[in-house]
Amino acid sequence: MTPPKKIIIIGAGVAGLSAGCFAQMNGYDSEIFELHDLPGGLCTAWERKGYTFDGCIHYLFGSGEDQPFNQVWQELGVLENRPFFNHEELLRVTDHHGKSLISFADPDRLQDHMIDLSPADGELIKELCEGVRRFLDFDLSALQQKPKSLMTIWDWQALGQKMTPFVWPLAKWGPYSAAEFGEKFNDPFLRQAVPYMFGWTDIPMMAGLSLLAYMHTENAGFPAGGSLAFAQAIEQRYLALGGKIHYNAQVEKILVQDNRALGVRLYDDREFFADEVISCADGRSTIFEMLDGAYTDRQIKRRYDGHLPILSQLQVSLGVDRALSDEPHWEIHLLDKPLLIGGQSVDAIGIKNYCFDRSLAPAGKSSVVIMLPTDYHYWKRIYGRRLYDTEQLQVADILIDFLETKYPGISDQIEVKDVATPLSYERYTGNYLGSTCGWLLTDKTMSLLIQGMDKTLPGLDHFYLAGQWVEPGGSVPIVAMSGRHVIQLVCAADKRPFVAQKFKGEPEVIY
Ligand SMILES: Cc1cc2nc3c(=O)[nH]c(=O)nc-3n(C[C@H](O)[C@H](O)[C@H](O)COP(=O)(O)OP(=O)(O)OC[C@H]3O[C@@H](n4cnc5c(N)ncnc54)[C@H](O)[C@@H]3O)c2cc1C
Repeated sequence: MTPPKKIIIIGAGVAGLSAGCFAQMNGYDSEIFELHDLPGGLCTAWERKGYTFDGCIHYLFGSGEDQPFNQVWQELGVLENRPFFNHEELLRVTDHHGKSLISFADPDRLQDHMIDLSPADGELIKELCEGVRRFLDFDLSALQQKPKSLMTIWDWQALGQKMTPFVWPLAKWGPYSAAEFGEKFNDPFLRQAVPYMFGWTDIPMMAGLSLLAYMHTENAGFPAGGSLAFAQAIEQRYLALGGKIHYNAQVEKILVQDNRALGVRLYDDREFFADEVISCADGRSTIFEMLDGAYTDRQIKRRYDGHLPILSQLQVSLGVDRALSDEPHWEIHLLDKPLLIGGQSVDAIGIKNYCFDRSLAPAGKSSVVIMLPTDYHYWKRIYGRRLYDTEQLQVADILIDFLETKYPGISDQIEVKDVATPLSYERYTGNYLGSTCGWLLTDKTMSLLIQGMDKTLPGLDHFYLAGQWVEPGGSVPIVAMSGRHVIQLVCAADKRPFVAQKFKGEPEVIY
């Protein structure tokens, strides 16, 4: 009997773990090389003195049984004994007078609430809430069932039928960002608050409306135990399927001979060989460092020339000796005067408290997280100098002073302070500019999402890419599908059917 083909996977983020699971399900012998000592990549959390600070999932598409994206989670075995927290509101946006816009997931409730805030904007509000209703049945995962290159005419036809009812809503909402939509309101408070109602102001309206719709159908929950525990469940599934993970194993070069990927060399000079190499690591370092830029074209170079949007972020995490269970789980405060934070003028501050999941803080205490978009280059300039540490402390102090105005007495109750800059994300995950999701999903990247990006490089055989750098907008379910796609491509190249197996279930032949 011929031994199974070997596959090397770079990166144990969600994409790499997913690719590994599907490789094992399809009879390949896979190994993952991961630079960190933990699985998950960006899908992570960290513990300090009994507090767990979550660094990733606000909402996970596919958390609802038999709903879009749920199948991949069943296959990856993450749903066993894992309840999800489904919030009635995504977040609330509050101004300095204490007036709040609450982003209710239920479109009827949202409509009543917004009309109470501004009856004069009634027609626009009804349009917005109708938008949420239209996306209640929208199956975003239909676009992800197969890599585009493997779709048959019948697949396209089935996709076309599924998408037909949404052509008009997508065309209507596609061109607007939340910031642009906010400008349409007459009411001064809503003009300010609506841009933030889905979390960030550049979000395409169709993505924001789909998010509320998925929350309303309870398909966008927070996994109990948080993001790292979630990633560890996929790691366990992979190991149980017979996969092998090398931690603290940073790949320096992808070995190539005669334009065929042969394996990898680690920074400690060890070499490993395989029939196929899949990189689920950062796109820029894979293409321009591990492969020395030898397999690119004009289009690929252009993508990495800095013109596409990327979200670099700052996360200040606080362990607070105070129960904040009665406070909103996510509140964005609109500032009356901007604050200078990390060299940048900031006019809104989002505060998350994770009291809804009691496993994330000691009893009676709270894990609080503040996330802000920030300029990578600012932090890079000061990195390695004492100023970097001073600036981190200063940022934490500015935010604590701000929190004190909302929760008097809180500064004396803070037991743990932790600051992660884009350089922390870069250091732990290798992501270009510390990006949190690959290319940020905006009107500039929407077309890349719809067309799909190639998972191979021009001129290089037996090599594939998966993960957030080939799936604009990233996100945990989309990169899990990306890992699945790449094994579908490997199976197709080997002319064998792709098989996916639900956890504890019977094999299910996909095609
Ligand atoms: C703050 C934040 C909030 C988010 N919120 C959500 C959310 O609410 N919902 C959602 O669905 N998504 C969310 N995301 C996005 C989501 O986490 C990412 O898009 C997704 O996890 C990316 O997975 P990936 O496997 O493609 O990449 P990564 O997670 O970056 O994994 C790549 C892996 O490769 C490893 N690696 C890199 N270089 C090398 C090398 N040379 N050798 C070996 N290993 C290497 C890295 O260490 C890493 O483990 C959020 C992300 C962040 C940061």
